Amino acid sequence: MRKEIALTLDSCSESEEADAKTAGPGPRRPKRIRPREAVWARQWRSFFPARGRTATRSEPQSPRKRTTHAVIGARIPGLKPGESGGATDVTVHRRGDSPARTRATYIGAAALTLGLASILAPRLDAGAAPASPNPHVHPELAAHQARIAEPTLVRVSEHVYAAIGFDLGNLVFIVGDEGVVVYDTGTSLEVGRDALAALREHTDKPIVAVIYSHGHLDHVGGVRAFVPPGREAAIPIYANRRWPHYRTEQAIQKTPLRGLYQMGGALPTGDAGVVGNGGGPVFRMGSSGFLPPTILVDDELEFEAVGVKIRLFHAPGDVDDGLAAWLPEEGVLLAGDAYYPMFPALSTPRFDRHRDAWRNLETLDRFRKLGAEHVVPGHLWVISGREQVAQHLTAFRDAIQFMHDQTIRLLARGYGQTETANQIRASFPAHLAADPDLAEYYQRLEWVVKGIYAKTGGWYGGDAVELVQIGPRERARRLATLAGGSGKLRLAAESAYAVGDRAWAAELARSLVLADPEDARSRELLADILRSIGFDAKSANLRNYMLTEALVVDGSLDLDRLPRRKTAPDLLRSVDDSVLFRGLGVRLDPEQSRDVEFTAGFTFHDTGAQHGLVVRHGVIEYLPERPAEADLRVVLERETWLAIAGGNLSWLDALHSEAAEASSKEALARFEGFFDDR
Ligand SMILES: [Zn+2]
Repeated sequence: MRKEIALTLDSCSESEEADAKTAGPGPRRPKRIRPREAVWARQWRSFFPARGRTATRSEPQSPRKRTTHAVIGARIPGLKPGESGGATDVTVHRRGDSPARTRATYIGAAALTLGLASILAPRLDAGAAPASPNPHVHPELAAHQARIAEPTLVRVSEHVYAAIGFDLGNLVFIVGDEGVVVYDTGTSLEVGRDALAALREHTDKPIVAVIYSHGHLDHVGGVRAFVPPGREAAIPIYANRRWPHYRTEQAIQKTPLRGLYQMGGALPTGDAGVVGNGGGPVFRMGSSGFLPPTILVDDELEFEAVGVKIRLFHAPGDVDDGLAAWLPEEGVLLAGDAYYPMFPALSTPRFDRHRDAWRNLETLDRFRKLGAEHVVPGHLWVISGREQVAQHLTAFRDAIQFMHDQTIRLLARGYGQTETANQIRASFPAHLAADPDLAEYYQRLEWVVKGIYAKTGGWYGGDAVELVQIGPRERARRLATLAGGSGKLRLAAESAYAVGDRAWAAELARSLVLADPEDARSRELLADILRSIGFDAKSANLRNYMLTEALVVDGSLDLDRLPRRKTAPDLLRSVDDSVLFRGLGVRLDPEQSRDVEFTAGFTFHDTGAQHGLVVRHGVIEYLPERPAEADLRVVLERETWLAIAGGNLSWLDALHSEAAEASSKEALARFEGFFDDR
């Protein structure tokens, strides 16, 4: 009996999510997808401790040379509703069995275990731990990623070219007689250069202007590829007027931790790890090549550039600084991230609070009135054909409208976040649920609903018991006691895992780990469950979160060794000094600064600016002037301060390298000790 249970587990990789009840896809022709090299992943991997299991990172990936295919003249039409997006040529990989045999095994064994689980479970002893899940990719996710795997330059209309698959987000070139206008620039200098090289095969016209669709790094980080040093004054950079506010906020709040999870930065590429991002290929981090915008557009700005009429207008989408571009003579709408052929990403587990359903709806309804012939979204492929465009935009806005309205309706009726999300999943209109261009390859419906819920109603779910909850560790200990000991709790977790009830299995296994973090068997069990959910996930984000957390749980990835904050100086250069000084507060260690009253003064010898900072019993206060009396005075260049503020240089290293002068080395060391060192 024990053996059959284990067999079931090994092949029980069919359902998309932990709570999926149906058997998975049928036999398909195997084809390994080829994710591009993950520069970012390699960078992060250098922070890994040597200890721990490495099985999930054992598949060597030969570095693939980036190739650029210029498909000029080809258009990528939007998928018609009902089409699957070519899912048939990719399959899940399993060790050993052929897909057909595995499926047959699954169905037989699943029937057995589902029927007999309650009888069998108590008889499983501690030696019946489920087998580790085999690395594989959900076939629909694999097909989706394959569609955007190759960098391709697409000619959308007479003057518009879209660079798709070069990066997480798209770059667009408006090519006229006198030059080229660039709409979005990719994450890094390398991405911008690659896309420009593809364009240069078709035109040598100079870059005359740049437009930022919004402030997310994957749209602005590569601008230096288009505006070389010395050309800043000649090439204007347009953005919405809310842009500086957004960048400022990011400068303080940004932490790479959740981005690491979401982008799969700690994972290998391939079946055992990251296969892409849902919204684009594997995230490719490179050199920062950022410049701030030079022209801020209020609500609307119409002008002619390179002989093409361009109307820029405020288009809030997943962030509130969205700036769309409408080219009436081309019938082309550059939508930024207010629209893309995928499920609306209105809420994210990664830190980012600008996700306003209502504003996004207004933007989409404005888009619909344009009667565009083509939409180039910020992510994924171009939608062409007036009817197709209208259909896509309507479906996208209806999905948002439904989630927004029903969330508030249910919230008002006293439902908590999770219940609200589950209810909306169950009642989501069938035609939208079946629409391949609303597929949840990136964010999931439940996450979006929870985001809308939290934005509307705050954290409180409406159950008064929530107000007096005990902590998760204590709860886990008591749950183990209630189950009759941790052995019984483990048995329950394994049994739930065995019958494919993986969300519950994960909850129970998490309780085991919380109750006894040193118990290696519990950690292995939880890691296996998380991997099993991740490998079967259709959402790239769900996959990446699960597989990354599995590495954390089994000890392969030590989050304490990761830098919690690292921002390139060029991203901070346009941020006000006062914001960066105030931002130091989010790194203040309350223990180290508890018994402290300390005043520091800072002088930037190049700009002449004077700043003061008071550390007072666990709290900081910024002073916009030179303090009359100070325990420490530091003189440095603003650029050195940006390196320190971004977490790229320590105060003492700045002193040692003579990039900073301090009134006392001891006082500087003391000051630095008040703050987290990463
Ligand atoms: Zn984006």
